[in-house]
Amino acid sequence: MKTYKIAVIPADGIGTEVINPGCEVLETIARADGGFRFEFTHFDWGSDYYRKHGVMMPADGVDQVRGFDAIYFGAVGDPKIPDAITLWGLRLAICQGIDQYANVRPTRLLPGLKSPLRADLAKDVDWVIVRENSEGEYAGAGGRAHRGLPIEVGLDVSIFTRTGIERICRFACDLARSRPRKKLTIVTKSNAQRHGMVFWDEVCRGVIKDYPDLDIDWMLVDAMTTRMVLKPGTIDTVLASNLHADVLSDLASAVAGSLGIGATANLDPSRAGPSMFEPIHGSAFDITGKGIANPIGAFWTAAMMLEHLGQKDAGDRLMRAIEEVTARGNVLPPDLGGNAGTRQVTDAVLASLESMATAAE
Ligand code: NAD
Ligand code: MN
Repeated sequence: MKTYKIAVIPADGIGTEVINPGCEVLETIARADGGFRFEFTHFDWGSDYYRKHGVMMPADGVDQVRGFDAIYFGAVGDPKIPDAITLWGLRLAICQGIDQYANVRPTRLLPGLKSPLRADLAKDVDWVIVRENSEGEYAGAGGRAHRGLPIEVGLDVSIFTRTGIERICRFACDLARSRPRKKLTIVTKSNAQRHGMVFWDEVCRGVIKDYPDLDIDWMLVDAMTTRMVLKPGTIDTVLASNLHADVLSDLASAVAGSLGIGATANLDPSRAGPSMFEPIHGSAFDITGKGIANPIGAFWTAAMMLEHLGQKDAGDRLMRAIEEVTARGNVLPPDLGGNAGTRQVTDAVLASLESMATAAE
């Protein structure tokens, strides 16, 4: 039987509260399927690890997870540790260390859920945002100078490389081509960001010549936010830089009902290393420990992981189980307008999976 080795890094806050239920869901699917199994290895990295060891993960952390089939990640962030330390010390260190350059964020309105948009607009939301995940504004280059002196500067330098832009643009074009509408919007800000973003446009213009079958348009990132709210039906696949897509994809999950349902795959399309799957939300200090974190984002990303591992049917079954629970609407967490806790939502999804398995027998 095929065994998938998964590195599990729940990390901080509600990350731990949603990832363990996610592992239960994955185990249940594997059991019902009978054709594959999971071997989970848990890593206790994160802010508590930092308090003990002064680092978010061991120096060879990236190498420790390199041999796994996939990484299932929670969230980082601690009220008492600067965010730049927790983010760069773990999540970005893994994404960039393994060169997971394509970050993929699907958004659609799950049955039964309410969007803050008007229903006639919201019904057409079915997007995939492709985020450049290895360089750009989050390249990590920059510095601080003259600390404490009258002339003080802080620099974050965006780095755009031809290789980096080309590969993500090609990835986005291929993804757009695999979807029914064959439609891609390339997001830019080359009016104000006159170096890196102009280069971005230039390289993308070269790549899209190979995709004459796609319907491609361009959009400045600020205008893109209004299009997402006012004309959501005109959008399908979206390509944007690291920072721009980070912002757009939070907006996207709010449009679909809540940050708690957003899912992400950090892919290394070359498959030289494992890809990493995580909900898009953070550690959510305000609800940590209350047992009310919405686990749907963690489940949706688990479905993406199943598909990536070659178990698309199992991934589809998980999405159907999630959708059955949202459509019924009687077991929803507070961020979706209900009063169920993480445990109850998990149990509802597990029950839905079990009943599908029984029906199939
Ligand atoms: P957040 O995503 O943690 O929370 C934003 C708001 O959404 C909060 O009100 C929170 O309660 C709510 N929310 C988020 N996920 C939810 C869920 N699953 N169920 C119900 N409600 C949910 O973002 P933030 O408050 O800006 O950041 C908190 C910490 O998380 C910071 O330290 C930040 O750096 C970190 N962060 C980490 C990641 C990551 O690990 N990938 C992503 C974003 C933020
Ligand atoms: Mn983000």
